[in-house]
This record gives sequence, C-alpha cells and structure tokens, in this order.
Amino acid sequence: MADFPLKPGSTIGILGGGQLGRMMALAAARLGFRTVILADHEESCAAQVASQTIVGPYEDRFALKQLAGAADVVTYEFENVPAVAVKILAELGVPTAPSAHALAVAQDRVAEKTFLNTAGVATVDFEPIHSAAEIGPALDRLGAPALLKTRREGYDGKGQTWVDNHAEAAAALGRIGGKPAILEAAADFVRELSVIAARGRDGEVACYPLGENHHEGGILRRTSAPAKISASAAAQAETVAARILTALDYVGVMGVELFELADGRLLVNEIAPRVHNSGHWTLDGCEVDQFEQHIRAVAGWPLGPTTALARVEMTNLIGDEADHWKNLAGEQEARVWLYGKGAARPGRKMGHVNRLRPLD
Ligand code: AMP
Repeated sequence: MADFPLKPGSTIGILGGGQLGRMMALAAARLGFRTVILADHEESCAAQVASQTIVGPYEDRFALKQLAGAADVVTYEFENVPAVAVKILAELGVPTAPSAHALAVAQDRVAEKTFLNTAGVATVDFEPIHSAAEIGPALDRLGAPALLKTRREGYDGKGQTWVDNHAEAAAALGRIGGKPAILEAAADFVRELSVIAARGRDGEVACYPLGENHHEGGILRRTSAPAKISASAAAQAETVAARILTALDYVGVMGVELFELADGRLLVNEIAPRVHNSGHWTLDGCEVDQFEQHIRAVAGWPLGPTTALARVEMTNLIGDEADHWKNLAGEQEARVWLYGKGAARPGRKMGHVNRLRPLD
C-alpha cells in the first residue's frame, strides 16, 4: 500500500494517453516523479513524455495488472474510464484518485445532476428519458425547447440535440442514437464560466480564479481568465466547488462548468473529474498550474497557491491551426503548447496558445 505523501521517485500511473495525460506527466516529472501511462493505442501523445507506457485496452486485466504493479497511485486523464477498469485496479490494491465513486457520478448525467442537487448545488431542471414516449410529458414540464443529451459518453457537444415539440420526440431520440437520455431545461445563460478546483488528501480545497469560456461547434475555443466577475459570484463559485469536492470526498483536480444567469446566479452544467481544458490558462497564468496541482493532490502533497500572475487568453489550436506554430512562436506574449499528435484531423485538439497580459 502506498504511503502518502509519495516521495519523489515514486511512480504515478495515468489511465489515458491524450494531451491531458501528457501535461500531467510533464508536471509529475518536474516534481521528481516517474509516470506510467496505460494507453489504448501505440501512438499516444502522453507516451512521448512518460517514463513508461503500457499499451492495451482499458478493460484488459493483464494491462491493468502491469499498471498496478508499476504505479504507487493511479489517476485518470479522461472520465469515461470503464467502470470495470477501476474495479480491477481496486482489487489489485492500488490506490486510485479520483475515486471510482466520483467517476461513476460524473459518467452519468442523471446521476450527476441528482448528486449535485442533493449536495445543495443548483442545476437546470431535468428529466431522465428511457423512451420517446417520455419526452412529450417531460417537455411540458420543463418547457420547450429543451436539450436532449445521452446520459453517458457525451463530450464536446456530441450526443445532444434540441427538441422543440412533441412531434419531434422520436426523431430527436433517433438523432442521439436512441440511447438512455436526459432532457434538460434550456439554461438562459449570459455567460459560460468554469472553476477549476482541487482537493488534497487532507481535505483542503483550493480554487483557481474563474475562466470565461467560448465554444464553437460544441468545442471549447477560448478561455479568458481571470474572468471579470463580481466578488459575490466568485464566492458563490468557490462555495459550489467546495461543496461538490467535499461531498465526493474527492482527491485531485476537477473542472466545474457553470452557467451564469442574468440575475447573477450560477448553475452547474457539468463536472469533469479531471484536469480540464478550460484550466490550461493556469499553465502560464498561475503560480502552480492545474496539472501540478493534480499531481500534488493525488500524491498527498500540500496543494500549491492558485493565485493568478497574469491575465490569460487561452485559445485551442484545432485541426490544421497548429500548422501556424512558427507565427505563434514569434508572438512575444504567446506561450505555445503543442501536443505532439500526428494527423491534424478537423476538430482534433492539436495544441493551445496562452496569450498573456499584465493583470489590471
Ligand atoms: P455539455 O456537453 O453538457 O457540456 O454541453 C455543451 C454545451 O452545450 C455547453 O457548453 C452549453 O453551451 C450548451 N448547453 C449544455 N446544456 C445546456 C442547457 N441545459 N441549456 C442551454 N445550453 C446548454
């Protein structure tokens, strides 16, 4: 059994080989840790910077056994880790953070919103949907239009569709593949914000200043941080984040996506039990970035300061936008992060750029 705090030289296991795993591995290396990645394909971008990589399906008992044997603690870089993988890791006796429970809650939009409401955190009103026949009555209660989303495995705006009226119910469910769903009341938000929060093994919670997020085609395009918000909105976000992390007995960094309503109230849209794209600004804008913070938390180290040192506009480099690396590298206020991915397919996140300005 691992002894926390982990000593430098210990090994942190990461399930998933994408850019979030890559940036976690870089942060871990800076603190003197080794990393072992379990990725489901050979060409993972996290493998390029990890100490060791195991390639295999996430449910593969043999691969998980190798991972558990090599790691002192295992964390995740994506939330759709198969539940069986987490169960096998637990059976093998390796500590995991965040917990299987936190992952299970975040993997199902109905379980997530039910948990949030029970914890005293406001969300949009919603109804679980098991068949097209349930959509009409739910629409009557929630108001039209409403947003139909798959309960599981939706990301970057995929697996969701607006429903305008009863007649459209069956077609709408068809558009999201007829899967178990949730119907959400439309949030009449003025802005989308997020708070990146961390909780250590000792229960301490630390929040970063909020980011203001802009999406295009369902994909995060830009985050501006610290967001210009009132002190009361900032305090509200911190209270919400602390409530969520504490109720889950969470260890690690979490992204909490928020809708800001015209009257200043914040609703939680969703929680991501991992480091988050809207927290990439912290890499160049904060004393300790979200990746180091996550590694500190899972390793049982004290959390670091979350103070902003600069105003940052983070822009994702999507598809062939990363081909402009030379121009970006020439911009004096820009910090360029490239993920080492091969083909620049449309919609694929290839990197991001943080443009820094002094805090006003
Ligand atoms: P999600 O996959 O839940 O993060 O949703 C992706 C995007 O869809 C969000 O960032 C919002 O822009 C929009 N969205 C999600 N849920 C709602 C809602 N209930 N009402 C209005 N817009 C929403």
